[in-house]
Amino acid sequence: AYTEQLQAALEFIRDGNRFLVVSHVQPDGDAISSTIVVGWILRQLGKQAVLINEGAVPIRLHYMESSASIINYSKQPLEETFDRIIAVDCADFRRIGRVSERFAESAQLLNIDHHPTNDAFGTANLIRIDAAATVEILYDLIEHGAISLDREVATAIYTGLLTDTGGFRYSNTTPRVMQVAARMLAEEVEGHWIANHLLEQMTKPQLLLLQRGLNRLTFSDDNRIAWLYVAFSDMAETGAVGDDLEGLVNYAVNVEGVDVGILFKETENGDVKVSMRSSGKADVSAIAQTFGGGGHVRAAGFRLEQGIQEAIGKVVQVASEALNL
Ligand code: 5GP
Ligand code: MN
Ligand code: MN
Repeated sequence: AYTEQLQAALEFIRDGNRFLVVSHVQPDGDAISSTIVVGWILRQLGKQAVLINEGAVPIRLHYMESSASIINYSKQPLEETFDRIIAVDCADFRRIGRVSERFAESAQLLNIDHHPTNDAFGTANLIRIDAAATVEILYDLIEHGAISLDREVATAIYTGLLTDTGGFRYSNTTPRVMQVAARMLAEEVEGHWIANHLLEQMTKPQLLLLQRGLNRLTFSDDNRIAWLYVAFSDMAETGAVGDDLEGLVNYAVNVEGVDVGILFKETENGDVKVSMRSSGKADVSAIAQTFGGGGHVRAAGFRLEQGIQEAIGKVVQVASEALNL
């Protein structure tokens, strides 16, 4: 059935002329890379593509030159509506965010994703939950369509694989991931430079934020849950931006003996964005779903409309119940 989905996805592209390509709010490496790869595929097939995201491309991803063509919808309102949409790396329709305002009422939507919680919200769906990243599925599509690679698209595919596998370390790093990555290196992608740039280097504000976060690191009585929080004021005081939060939650889950690590981030309006990570023993997507969010077994998230201390109390309680089932 997957081959049929690939075929249907190619037909979806061949049947249209002008497409809106969007990924999820607060885009990560796979989201931006997938947007770029779909834009590239559309160009190869002689189609028009408008690339967009609700927010900005993280600065550290700017080395992919096509990222400059992704419209930041929060800064650059768009009047046009589209009747052919391609959504990438979005587990559900809400992850698209406010960009969905630009979808025509009867829009045809192709949903390309790898999240196990994906609810097949498209009018066409290309979903493979054992893919490590959405870019891996896009590589399947490129192969299926016999489109030849170049260094630009290979750099984006490599970036999506590298970021969604945590540097080829997570359990989703299958033989196939390594084969696709090797194929990308053969296109002269600078794998070592990208790894150093995305995984090793830190900005000064990022380190100052880490310092504050670690100061607040707290453990449950049984040491199986560790959490930290970032207040909204920390951002301005350290000069940090949203991107600088990435990876912070790993310090909690990476403590030996910890099963669930949680980061609570206070947002501008006082709500809380929660990021959960599991060492593998607990399914944090199940916990996130009880709060209206989702994700993967080992990485999930959601938002809560309440104060940060109240959110911490509630989420730690639910996580602790889930661990003691
Ligand atoms: P992060 O903690 O890095 O923001 O997100 C980890 C994973 O959890 C993401 O890859 C995504 O799958 C999922 N996730 C994060 N926030 C949300 C949310 O608000 N809703 C849903 N459905 N999934 C989320
Ligand atoms: Mn993503
Ligand atoms: Mn992804």
